[in-house]
Amino acid sequence: MAILDIRVLGDPILRQATTPVDAMTEELHRLIADMFDTMHHARGIGLAAPQVGRTERLAVVEIEGEPIVLINPEVLERAGKAKGEEGCLSIPDIYADVERPRDITVRALDEQMQPFELEATQLLARCIQHEIDHLEGKLFLDYLSVLKRTAALAKWKLESHHYPGYIRRVSLETPEDLDGHEHLEEEL
Ligand SMILES: [Zn+2]
Repeated sequence: MAILDIRVLGDPILRQATTPVDAMTEELHRLIADMFDTMHHARGIGLAAPQVGRTERLAVVEIEGEPIVLINPEVLERAGKAKGEEGCLSIPDIYADVERPRDITVRALDEQMQPFELEATQLLARCIQHEIDHLEGKLFLDYLSVLKRTAALAKWKLESHHYPGYIRRVSLETPEDLDGHEHLEEEL
């Protein structure tokens, strides 16, 4: 397993739609394992393929120790509304409230390419929607008002020089650097 570099805001791959996965391969199994590794190392709760420079319609999520692989996910149903703070492993240190459907039903394939449906609410629903957005080239900043987005982008501009080539090398960050950051467990 390996820790992958995370692509950050500005890398065009974060704005591209992904391609459905039609068959599981050894290489994709390895990618999924590496994505979990990378997400754990970066203290995130979700990670989508474009965030590690890939174009497959594939994401991983893990909340409260429950890993979920989402291949070709689609939201079938949405209900309610909930507002919550979001961050993104691809937009470090930027956080904002986003309103989304509170409850969703998702259909996806698991790592064995078996279809399943999942009902999710609250944080899990938020995380899955955030990751599916990534698979469609969408970022949580897109939901903000012009004013809030402008403020977030101005803050990002000051941070972005830490990520030359739009690459975040989480392998160089020690867990100590990340400790004490109150928002980290919400990065998606
Ligand atoms: Zn994200």
